[in-house]
Amino acid sequence: MLSEDIFYAKVSPSALSNPRWIDINEDLLEEMGLRLDIENPQTLEAFAGGSPLDGWDPIAQVYSGHQFGQWAGQLGDGRGLYLGECAGFEWHLKGAGKTPYSRFGDGRSVLRSAIREYLGSEYMHALGLPTTRALTLIASDTPVQREILERGATLTRLAKSHLRIGHFEHFYHHKSYQALGELIEFAIIQLDRDLEGLSSRFEEVFGRYIDRSAKLVAKWMAVGFVHGVMNTDNTALSGETLDYGPYGFLMAYRDYYVINHTDQHGRYAYGQQPRVMHWNLGCLAETLTPFVPVETLRALLDEFPDKYREYYWAEMASRLAIDPTHEELPELVNSLKDYWSGSCMFYPEMFASMFDDSFSGLSKSSEGLAQLDQLRVRWSEMLDRSFLSEARQKAPVWMLSHWLLDQVIQRTERGEESLVQSIRQAIHRGLNEPCQIAIELGRTPPDQTAPYHLSCSS
Ligand code: AMP
Ligand code: MG
Repeated sequence: MLSEDIFYAKVSPSALSNPRWIDINEDLLEEMGLRLDIENPQTLEAFAGGSPLDGWDPIAQVYSGHQFGQWAGQLGDGRGLYLGECAGFEWHLKGAGKTPYSRFGDGRSVLRSAIREYLGSEYMHALGLPTTRALTLIASDTPVQREILERGATLTRLAKSHLRIGHFEHFYHHKSYQALGELIEFAIIQLDRDLEGLSSRFEEVFGRYIDRSAKLVAKWMAVGFVHGVMNTDNTALSGETLDYGPYGFLMAYRDYYVINHTDQHGRYAYGQQPRVMHWNLGCLAETLTPFVPVETLRALLDEFPDKYREYYWAEMASRLAIDPTHEELPELVNSLKDYWSGSCMFYPEMFASMFDDSFSGLSKSSEGLAQLDQLRVRWSEMLDRSFLSEARQKAPVWMLSHWLLDQVIQRTERGEESLVQSIRQAIHRGLNEPCQIAIELGRTPPDQTAPYHLSCSS
């Protein structure tokens, strides 16, 4: 058990005014075998930052981190409260008011960013990626000032663990090695219990972090996900995608695709993500130096690039229904990327378009189709039919694009409050099924050559 005041502070949530349900993720409830008494006004109130339900014990955790490559000092749960553990997940309420770690912030989340996280994390889950999940989304009339005046919302986020690299960094930076040791033991029990009590557990757990992170970023790269703000305080030790801020999906295939508007140097561009994850793990390695010899940590850290590549090829192979050891896989993938960098098709829709030559998805292009046909012929020669049905199932036929999300946000803000639920239900029916609303709302993509930048403000 971690002690209060060192690792966290107890916090009373502060309620939003006139809250209403936007959605409750009934598929996730069913997965967990739970029911929520949603007709009861106390349930709504609790998930909107009012009096906590029985069994909840809201706390805010302290962590620090490196942001855009610079040491940022103490951060912590500034607008999120850990409620407790249930059904194998940590429950976390985002947007329920100030905490001792709010610094200059108001402790609130706005509906715009809550919708982005709610749908984004469920979409990533449906794509088969490790991610935090979203359980509830509530809108309110509480005014919240961002670039413009917006409305407050809450989101309940579920994760195997909310521990971030920044948690370890915090205690390492303060040279509180005893507390750091306790925290690492806690993390081992939470995520890697089989290592508990082993004399080599600290170095082995670091190996696990390397492995999970390599796998995660390989999956991001394969599906064309851009996290947007891969600071060490947004990097989970569990290998789950965490912190859906200015994220997005690739349009044309471009390594230098940057979605975060504050990222002027492109540190978090799509193609930089493996390198940045490696860098973040270097920060994590440093925090383990009081316990593990530097050479051991370095050797483990040096394994990252190979592990990443291995996972990346395995992921691409399984999405293209090709044997991962096929010699011509890299060549085919590189030719596909070349094709997708020049075409007006959207990279995440590449997989579905391989399986179906009449597929168009949200992409609008007939350019270069002859070249694609040639690639398809090569692909079909390499294909392993026993992998095909799984690959088809994983291939999204509609992409959760940033312009589709913009439409959903605008309409929800104008009162179409069932839209989020419809999209979430479509996500859960499977991304290999067309979603009519998504196709209608996502029909008009912005010009691919014009920069689209999302703001970090959320
Ligand atoms: P993020 O960019 O969401 O990862 O947040 C970075 C840090 O700022 C974390 O410590 C957050 O808890 C904190 N933060 C972000 N927005 C707010 C807010 N509106 N109020 C309080 N803290 C915030
Ligand atoms: Mg964060």
